[in-house]
Amino acid sequence: MKKSYDVIIVGAGVAGCFAALHLPPDRQVLMITKEDITECDSYLAQGGICVLKDPSDYDAFFEDTMKAGHYENRKESVDCMIRSSKGVIEELMGYGVDFARNPDGTLEFTREAAHSTNRILHHEDITGEEITTHLQAAVKKLPNVEIHEHTRMVDLLTEKNRCDGIVLIDEDGKLQVVFASHILLATGGIGGIYENSTNYPSLTGDSLALCLKHDIKLEHLNYVQIHPTTFYSEKKERRFLVSESVRGEGAVLRDKNGERFTDELLPRDLLSAEILKQMAKDHTKYVHLDMTTITKFDIRKRFPHIVQHCLDCGIDPTKEYVPVVPAQHYFMGGIHVDLNSHTSMDHLYASGETCCNGVHGKNRLASNSLLESLVFAKNAAEHMVVIDGQRAWEGRSPRYLKNIDKSLGELSQIYGFDPEQLLDTKDSDEENKQMIWDEIDRENSSN
Ligand SMILES: Cc1cc2nc3c(=O)[nH]c(=O)nc-3n(C[C@H](O)[C@H](O)[C@H](O)COP(=O)(O)OP(=O)(O)OC[C@H]3O[C@@H](n4cnc5c(N)ncnc54)[C@H](O)[C@@H]3O)c2cc1C
Repeated sequence: MKKSYDVIIVGAGVAGCFAALHLPPDRQVLMITKEDITECDSYLAQGGICVLKDPSDYDAFFEDTMKAGHYENRKESVDCMIRSSKGVIEELMGYGVDFARNPDGTLEFTREAAHSTNRILHHEDITGEEITTHLQAAVKKLPNVEIHEHTRMVDLLTEKNRCDGIVLIDEDGKLQVVFASHILLATGGIGGIYENSTNYPSLTGDSLALCLKHDIKLEHLNYVQIHPTTFYSEKKERRFLVSESVRGEGAVLRDKNGERFTDELLPRDLLSAEILKQMAKDHTKYVHLDMTTITKFDIRKRFPHIVQHCLDCGIDPTKEYVPVVPAQHYFMGGIHVDLNSHTSMDHLYASGETCCNGVHGKNRLASNSLLESLVFAKNAAEHMVVIDGQRAWEGRSPRYLKNIDKSLGELSQIYGFDPEQLLDTKDSDEENKQMIWDEIDRENSSN
């Protein structure tokens, strides 16, 4: 690892990868991941990715997104996401992403809850894996991008509202300071701080804790989406998601007596509330999802991975009810960013689930997050290259140059970090988690 790069990207999910793919080949990029490169939520996305399939769907797509978000969405962000969607999908297909097609070869559009029409592209029920493997493969081919796995960002180098780089713990457990002209935080969601979540436990909102520490603006930390239908299990483990598209295609929810009790296509927050109400009424730990009502196709072909997971757990969804329970799933709040994914701190960007660009408002519309992550990661990369019409790197020497050869001890004084404390990750994990929870509580009580 070098002492400095043009860009540091923290995270290799769809947001981190798409940004890397949009940086010029003459820029040196460091990309780091906390665990294995495959351990990111982007791999887990099942249902699909939205797209403006036809200009005539613009108003309905916009309205569905706003309505799901309780009209708290930033309109300009929603507009940008929808208008950019087709181009992004074409780029994905250019990287080899294979979306499901109709027998005549045209793209097949599916539907999920709270969408007024079919506008979601999918690859079986592993859309995220299909997209992420292709993007990561493309990034690995870039000679200007150095990828380091099991390398963890533990602090930001900040001075006078300017970010000069990061402090990380490398693969060998050594603390290192790395400088960069621009830093992109693409560290994903916060499921790891919850007891029940569909997210990887390693995703603990690390960027958010660092932003709190360095006074970088955050927004709506209490806007957390609970997914209504995750597979119920007695075991303490990552909750397996039973995608919304299963209900979109006709599965129904039943109470302990086998009676339907709600509209399965309600937005996620309202449906989760209905399920929790029913569980309290029935004194049960879960409700039933009945997939036998899907008759237009074979669920073993359309949802092979969901069916297999159920079978592995001893339930045959072609004949039996599947036990489901709501669990933490997605984070709408995050690091406040503008349309260019720029944070309130100079040279610091954020995209993907860790940021809040206002697309989702108070509640995310299903299958909008992969799209949002891609669109705004691309915006970040493009903004790093050309700021206000000027090539960002031309004729400038890096602002951190005066510090680059200083010792770790000197740098800790300049940037105000304690190397011993940063190396104690167990303690700082607990501290970070508490900081995020305190902020969530504070926002909840001020609403
Ligand atoms: C089960 C499930 C199903 C989903 N289904 C869909 C769907 O059908 N459609 C849809 O649009 N969305 C879906 N989503 C949401 C979507 O997958 C995520 O919002 C999106 O993939 C987030 O991408 P990201 O790049 O921001 O983060 P991630 O893909 O989670 O990547 C985060 C990266 O940050 C790294 N990182 C974190 N902290 C650090 C640190 N301190 N130091 C170094 N690296 C760090 C991680 O190692 C990882 O590489 C689903 C999510 C889940 C969990």
